[in-house]
Amino acid sequence: MRFIETWIPATLVSTRDLAPGIREFLIRPDGFDGAAYPVGSHINVSVTICGLPETRSYSLVGEASPAGFTIAVRRAEDSRGGSRYMWQLAPGARLDITRPASLLAMDWARQNYCLIAGGIGITPILGAAQALARRGADVTLHYAVRSRKEAAYLDDLAGLLGDRLVVHASDEGDRLDLDALFASLPKGALALLCGPMRMLDGARHAWIGAGHPLPDLRYETFGSSGRLPTETFRVRLKDSNVELEIPRERSMLDVLNAGGFEVMYDCKRGECGLCAIDVVEVDGEIDHRDVFFSDHQKQGNAKICACVSRARGTITVDTLLRADAI
Ligand SMILES: Cc1cc2nc3c(=O)[nH]c(=O)nc-3n(C[C@H](O)[C@H](O)[C@H](O)COP(=O)(O)OP(=O)(O)OC[C@H]3O[C@@H](n4cnc5c(N)ncnc54)[C@H](O)[C@@H]3O)c2cc1C
Repeated sequence: MRFIETWIPATLVSTRDLAPGIREFLIRPDGFDGAAYPVGSHINVSVTICGLPETRSYSLVGEASPAGFTIAVRRAEDSRGGSRYMWQLAPGARLDITRPASLLAMDWARQNYCLIAGGIGITPILGAAQALARRGADVTLHYAVRSRKEAAYLDDLAGLLGDRLVVHASDEGDRLDLDALFASLPKGALALLCGPMRMLDGARHAWIGAGHPLPDLRYETFGSSGRLPTETFRVRLKDSNVELEIPRERSMLDVLNAGGFEVMYDCKRGECGLCAIDVVEVDGEIDHRDVFFSDHQKQGNAKICACVSRARGTITVDTLLRADAI
């Protein structure tokens, strides 16, 4: 059960390899008007995985262009196949996409902006850097990468920001020290971050530790691969004989909904919490992969976000239709 999404037909105009494992796609919707979209916007793309339709989200790179929407996709080898589907597309391919939507709340009235990108997390940050630089804002971008040759858009960013671009390349022994960075920021600074879950966890602790208000750390995640390996686990439904297997390549949410045990959902990224269901018993271990619950709530294991979180072993869950969500 999901909120309705409007799909629009589009054509893949061109592709460009930006770095090993990162490919840029220019996609033009039919009847495209080039209208501006908010910073941090993404589109959803309908992909085919194992013959079935699935959705993957991709951030729009840079500000609006009359040529179409630009996205950059990292090829994830250990994955269910959404990025591999994107990578096999050739110019001229027809696609279904959604209109841009932004999950990043921007505030243009700050004195100081700190942008942080980890790897492919640069995609929503690039447009923010362009918009802030155009407004003459005091902005610095910290870009954490494995190596400079694996970093997408490095030349564009260097041209845009000059020495306000700070690259932290781990193969050069330069790791981003978020504690030191946030401690050095003036009060009232706004941080925008996009990177892996571990980076976000570290950033939250460092941000609070430096005495900044948590709402001033704005972030986007692309989904988490978790602490535990992605493996098959079992879900038992309380007070019934039903026990379901959640295979490696499917989410608990998808298996429950396919089995007719309707679970409400929206973001499918572990952000909105709509698909959270009660956990009654854990025979094994839960791997919370959401950003909805606090660390404390995750330790309590009372609920699980069925869209992204997984487990090892067997978990028993309570009624799946949440009364407050009907
Ligand atoms: C708002 C938003 C913006 C995004 N923008 C970008 C972008 O600009 N560029 C980009 O490359 N990606 C972006 N993503 C991520 C993108 O949507 C896809 O998740 C990504 O392409 C990987 O898809 P996949 O099917 O190849 O991998 P997935 O199967 O989704 O795998 C991703 C990770 O999850 C783990 N995993 C594997 N199976 C499962 C499972 N059953 N359940 C849970 N986890 C599993 C894998 O270990 C892997 O590391 C964005 C995501 C969001 C939500």
